[in-house]
Amino acid sequence: MKVDILIIGAGISGAVLAERYATRGKKVLILEKRPHIAGNCFDYIDENGILVSKYGAHLFHTNEEGVWNYVNRFSEWYAWEHKVLAKVDEKLVPIPVNITTVNMLFDLKISSEEQMKDWLEKNRVHTDNPKNGKEAVLARVGPELYEKMFRHYTKKQWDKFPEELDASVLDRIPVRTNYDNRYFSDKYQALPKNGYTKLFEKLLSHPNIHVELNTDYFDVKDKITGYSKLFYTGPIDRFFEFKHSLEDKLEYRSINFVSETVNQEYYQENSVVNYPGTEVDFTRIIEYKHFGNQQSKKTTIVKEYTVDSGEPYYPVPNKKNREIYERYRRDSEGLKNIYFVGRLANYKYFNMDQAFKNALDLFKSLEGRKKRKRIF
Ligand code: UDP
Repeated sequence: MKVDILIIGAGISGAVLAERYATRGKKVLILEKRPHIAGNCFDYIDENGILVSKYGAHLFHTNEEGVWNYVNRFSEWYAWEHKVLAKVDEKLVPIPVNITTVNMLFDLKISSEEQMKDWLEKNRVHTDNPKNGKEAVLARVGPELYEKMFRHYTKKQWDKFPEELDASVLDRIPVRTNYDNRYFSDKYQALPKNGYTKLFEKLLSHPNIHVELNTDYFDVKDKITGYSKLFYTGPIDRFFEFKHSLEDKLEYRSINFVSETVNQEYYQENSVVNYPGTEVDFTRIIEYKHFGNQQSKKTTIVKEYTVDSGEPYYPVPNKKNREIYERYRRDSEGLKNIYFVGRLANYKYFNMDQAFKNALDLFKSLEGRKKRKRIF
């Protein structure tokens, strides 16, 4: 087969680049190590008739018009404003922290934004420029909520306390001075009507795209020649045979998903319940049937245990890892016609919409229409 573009990985970055090049008339080959497309967005109907995600819940949210228009070409979407509850002191409280959270946990009767701002002001630890995750949380909500909702959850999730992580990790979660209990505040918040896998099937349906599943690029790379560009979406250290991290590993976190069928209609009152305490080892329980209000006599719940070995899901943002990554990044810049795209190849904690945007932007920067030469 003639190949113009070789793509490693059939997740968001790989699928978007494949679709873009295919519609420009290029022949695209995608090599995917796993037995399925869609990367960590992969979902399927399970034995209880419920659409579940194999690698954790994926909630799409964006403020980017371009990304929103693009994803709407491949699926219908239904509005879904994600909410999360956290089990703290035997109570189910909203996260992000809002007026309800503080009232429930401290038995208060705050009823206005002004009062909530005053409460936060009295509790927060002022820092001009938070250097790490701990300072970031203390500066926003103060020590009591830090201890109850963030410290141990973060340790379970990253095997590091917040002070060992960049502020950006915990800055993902805002604090609200009102009753807004949505996890995100983006303009567009939605889920694909028939799931992400179907969306990826459509993205990859162009006849110029060929996908080889169960194929590890590193096993076959010497056999594939003749392509003009390679897009690599796997872990960057693996591409370079771990040469800069033989002693100090570039860290990733993985998740052990433990699925159970529960023989009752619902298990919990919300799609996601976080467990930020030390009483259990898992970080959260997802009950998938809540997404899109799916109907089934039974329910499927998944407990998430974050672990350090297994498939790499999360890069771990801190100084040491950034320095190791930087060495790989410099090497990658020296390579001609090889591009590193996505969460694992850029070693960045991207949200889904950022992954779409980066791939679309990369395509534009490489292939954007050249200005026509003026003939007169
Ligand atoms: N976090 C926390 N308590 C929570 C939820 C989140 O301490 O109940 C912290 C934790 O460090 C986590 C980070 O905030 O890794 C970002 O959370 P997010 O929900 O964005 O993580 P994701 O859904 O991407 O795993």
